[in-house]
Amino acid sequence: MSLQDISARIAKAAQDAGRDADSVKLIAVSKVQPNERVEAVLEQGHRCFGENRVQEAAGKWPDFMQRFSDIDLHLIGPLQTNKARQAMELCHAIHSVDRPKLAKTLARLAQEMGHCPDLFIQVNTGEEPQKAGILPLEADDFIAECRALDLPIKGLMCIPPVEEEPALHFALLARIAARNGLEGLSMGMSSDFERAIALGATHVRVGSAIFGERVKAPAQ
Ligand SMILES: *Cc1c(COP(=O)(O)O)cnc(C)c1O
Repeated sequence: MSLQDISARIAKAAQDAGRDADSVKLIAVSKVQPNERVEAVLEQGHRCFGENRVQEAAGKWPDFMQRFSDIDLHLIGPLQTNKARQAMELCHAIHSVDRPKLAKTLARLAQEMGHCPDLFIQVNTGEEPQKAGILPLEADDFIAECRALDLPIKGLMCIPPVEEEPALHFALLARIAARNGLEGLSMGMSSDFERAIALGATHVRVGSAIFGERVKAPAQ
């Protein structure tokens, strides 16, 4: 698949759902991809990318940012508090706010730095023990807590369990967002972004369908 193919599929899925194509942002997930592949997508004019590790992002994006203007970098993987400052300096959005300690750290750093990336709260919709994210039953309270800290919460993010029908998880995430007045929905990956768009995704995170299979497994 090429970037154009994916963009066309996004536009079609949006249209089928009665939505504007530009109500869906494509985050090209470049984790562990060779730089040549990332550069090829930059050359085609795409500017919105996702990485799941701060260290890896810090290794390649400052250089790309020098060479290509207006890069919009999203952190989509788990964030340790000791990497929060670096993530806030480098990224325009963080999709993995998943616990009070991290929220407090981001709030303190936002005060100190005078700016904060757009934030998404990750919800562990499948209640999987090994997966990051706030549990669905705790989401309303956690959203309120983040708002009380003045954090710019734009929406919610989820990664459905691999074995389950993702649409159920997308619908659950959309319900939690709606009842909390949040518009952003970061959901949908290579295998299911069209279903996510049908259920309201505003940000789809697509990696292998654009860049090809990842060469090595990313750390979770
Ligand atoms: C790797 C990753 C993706 C992209 O996965 P693909 O199946 O390659 O599209 C999306 N979201 C997160 C959080 C990821 O870590």
